[in-house]
Amino acid sequence: MVVIRGATTINRDDKEEIKRAVKELLEQIANVNQLIKDEIVSIVFSSTSDIHAYYPAKAAREAGFEGCSLFSAQEPDIHGGLSLCIRVMIFVEKDIKPRHVYLRGAKVLRKDIATVYSVAIDGPAGSGKSTVAKRLAADYHIHYLDTGAMYRACALCVVEAGLDVSDEAAVVDLMRTVELEVEYENGVQKTIVNGRDVSEDIRRPAISMAASAVSKHPSVRIHMAEQQRQIAGKMSCVLDGRDIGTFVLPDADFKFFLTARPEIRAKRRYDELVAKGHTVDFEELKAEIVRRDEQDSTRAVAPLKVAEDAVVIDTSEMTVEEVVSTIKQRMQERI
Ligand code: C5P
Repeated sequence: MVVIRGATTINRDDKEEIKRAVKELLEQIANVNQLIKDEIVSIVFSSTSDIHAYYPAKAAREAGFEGCSLFSAQEPDIHGGLSLCIRVMIFVEKDIKPRHVYLRGAKVLRKDIATVYSVAIDGPAGSGKSTVAKRLAADYHIHYLDTGAMYRACALCVVEAGLDVSDEAAVVDLMRTVELEVEYENGVQKTIVNGRDVSEDIRRPAISMAASAVSKHPSVRIHMAEQQRQIAGKMSCVLDGRDIGTFVLPDADFKFFLTARPEIRAKRRYDELVAKGHTVDFEELKAEIVRRDEQDSTRAVAPLKVAEDAVVIDTSEMTVEEVVSTIKQRMQERI
C-alpha cells in the first residue's frame, strides 16, 4: 500500500469551487502517478475550518472517484495556517514511488520547495503574457508583477518632461528624481509615480514605443531589474516581461516564453485598446508591434530572447484557458 499526499486551495467557500478544486487535485494526482481508479483503495480529505459549502468527499464521488471509500473531516482552526485549504491522502494498492501534488496556494506547504518562488513569463507584446500571468497569480494566490508597467512609467515621465527618450543621461537623471512605486489593490497592480496613479496613462499606444526606447538604456535596465529582484525576493510572484528568465531572475523556479504570430498579437492588442475606448489603426499598430519586437530583440543589454531553460509556448491558436492549463501542467511536472 502506498499513500499519496496532496493539497490545494480554493478562492472562496463555494460548492462549485470546491467541486472544481477537488476534481483538479484528484485528476492531477492520478495523472502524475499514472493511477487507474481501481488502484485507489481509499481517499481521505481534511479541509480547513473556513470551508462549509460542500463535502470534498462528495465532490470526489461526483468527479468519478466512486469505487473507493471516501471520507472528509474538518481541521482545527490553527493560528497562522493556510486558509481555504483542502488536503488529501490517497491510499493506493500499487508498488510505486508516490508523487505528491500541491496546487495553488497549497504549494507553500511543500517542505522541499522554497516558500518564495517565482514564475517568469517572457515574450513579445501581445503574446498573452499579462492575461496568463494574472490568471496564474490569482489561481496560486501569489503576486503578479507587470515589469512592462515599470518601463512604461519611466517612459511616461520622460515624455511628460519633454525629454528625448534616446538621451540616456537625461533619462537616468530624471529617473533618479522620480519615486516609482508598485502597489497592490485587491490583488491588482497599481503603478504610482510621485504619488500619482499612472496605471491607465501608461497604456497609451504612444507610451509603448517610448517604453521600448527608454528600456534600451543599460542604466535604466539595471535600475529596474534591481527593483524587480527586490520585489520577487520578498514574495512569490509571477513576473511578466522580456528579460525575466534571462537577466532579472536567471534562477526563477519556473520559466515560460510565450509567443504568437505578429498579426495575432496585433489583433489582441487592437481589441484590448478598442475595448478601453482608444482609437487605433490596425495596420499602424501591427507595424508598431513589429518595430518594437525588433528594437527589444536587438538591444545590447538584456534583449528579448528565450532563456535556455524556458518552456516555449506558441499561443497563436490557443485560448487563454489552454495556455494557463498547459503552464500549470508543466509546473506540476517540475515539482
Ligand atoms: O510588456 P509591455 O508591452 O507593457 O512593455 C513595454 C515595453 O517595455 C516593451 O516593449 C519593452 O521594450 C520594455 N520592457 C522591457 N523589459 C521588461 C518589460 C518590458 O524591456 N521586462
